[in-house]
Amino acid sequence: MLDPKLFESDTRADWCPGCGDFGVLAALKDALLKSGKQPHEVVVVSGIGCSSNMPGYIRTYGFHGLHGRPMPVAIGIKCANPRLTVVAAAGDGDEYGIGFNHVVHAARRNDDIKLIVMNNEIYGLTTGQLSPTSRLGQKTKTSPEGSIIYPIKPLPTILGAGGTFVARTFSGDPKHMSLVIQEALKHRGFALIDAISPCVTWHNIYDEVKKLFYKLEDRGYKPDDEQKAYEAMNDPNGIPIGIFYRTEDKASFQERLGEVNGGRWPVDEVKTLPESVCRSLALEFA
Ligand code: SF4
Repeated sequence: MLDPKLFESDTRADWCPGCGDFGVLAALKDALLKSGKQPHEVVVVSGIGCSSNMPGYIRTYGFHGLHGRPMPVAIGIKCANPRLTVVAAAGDGDEYGIGFNHVVHAARRNDDIKLIVMNNEIYGLTTGQLSPTSRLGQKTKTSPEGSIIYPIKPLPTILGAGGTFVARTFSGDPKHMSLVIQEALKHRGFALIDAISPCVTWHNIYDEVKKLFYKLEDRGYKPDDEQKAYEAMNDPNGIPIGIFYRTEDKASFQERLGEVNGGRWPVDEVKTLPESVCRSLALEFA
C-alpha cells in the first residue's frame, strides 16, 4: 500500500494562503507516489521565487539554485547520474524570462528533465512586477498604466524548438495535474509542464481560469499531431489544459550520450568519453 506521507517534508510551505503553488506541490507529491518513485530516486531543482522554495517542501533530494538557472543544474545532475529522476520547478519569471534560453536548448537536445513552470503572470516574491507572461495592458508595480509589452508564448516556442512533451495544467485541478505529471515522468526526454498557478496576492486569476479552462481529452484531442498542437495552444476562446504534444520517437540527450560512450552508462564510465565528445559538450554547455 502506498504511504501518502512518503514525500512529506518536515518544513511547512509558507506561501500565502490560497497560493496556486500549494496545488502544484500536492500534485507533484501525488504523481511521484503513484509513479512508484522513492524519495532517494528523485531530485527537485529550483531557481528563485516563491515557487522555487519547492525543494524545501518535498522529501526528495533538492537543489535551490540561482535565478533562472535550474536547468543547467538539473541537466548536470542528470548527466552525472541518469538513474535519478530530475524535476526542475520554478516560476514564469525564472524559466520564461531570466533562464528561458536554457529551456529552449533543453527542449532542442531533449534532455531528460521534467520542468514544471508555475506560471502566475507576475513576479510574486518581489511583490508584483511585470513578468514575461504578463498580459498586454496588465497593471503591475512596473506597469502602473498597463503593460505595453506582448507576453511570451512559451508552449508554441518550446514545441518549435523540438519539444517532445508539451503540456499545460491548472493548480485548481491538482488531480488532473498529477495525471499529467505522471505521464511526464514516463516520458523519454524533456517535458514542459506549464502549470497555471495563480498568485492570489498580486494577480489573482483563479475565477477567470476556472471559467475558461477545459480538458483537451474531454474533446477527444490526441497529442500526436504537431500542427494541431499549435492550433490547440492558440485557442482564443478558452484555456485548454492537458498534453498538447508528445512523441517518444526521439532519444533523450542522456541516452545518446550513453550511445557515444559505447553503451557504457552511467556514472563511472563518463570519464572515458572520447575527447572529441567532451569538447563538443563543453561548447554546448558553456
Ligand atoms: Fe503565492 Fe503570490 Fe503569495 Fe508568492 S506572493 S506565495 S506567488 S500568492
